[in-house]
Amino acid sequence: MTQDTLFSKIIKKEIPAEIVFQDDRATAFRDINPKAPCHILIVPNKIIPTVNDVTEEDEALLGHLFIVARNLAQQEGIAEDGYRLIINCGRHGNQEVFHLHMHLVGGRSLGRMIQRD
Ligand code: AMP
Repeated sequence: MTQDTLFSKIIKKEIPAEIVFQDDRATAFRDINPKAPCHILIVPNKIIPTVNDVTEEDEALLGHLFIVARNLAQQEGIAEDGYRLIINCGRHGNQEVFHLHMHLVGGRSLGRMIQRD
């Protein structure tokens, strides 16, 4: 049995979150520490810890996350101006929650993608 994650508890509504979309494959909720006016996390209901754990079997599921992102961007009114989709992986990617998720960030100009520290 796969161990629960913070996000799987949100998906099961055991932990509160502002859920903006949910179906049988994915859940989207507002990030608790938003980096922009719109910052939503799009999470597969199935626990996949990181991109390194993705299998061929997950292909359609991961494609679905993009459909959800497109729809939410439209819903949030940020589609036309644009936005950024981010998936962090592992230590160098600064991943904090080991349940694969896509950040949908927008509502302001986001600047260059990567800065040197
Ligand atoms: P990452 O660094 O890609 O793993 O991103 C994890 C994200 O989860 C961060 O942006 C956090 O602000 C966010 N986060 C952590 N706990 C919660 C929570 N309880 N509800 C919503 N977002 C959360």
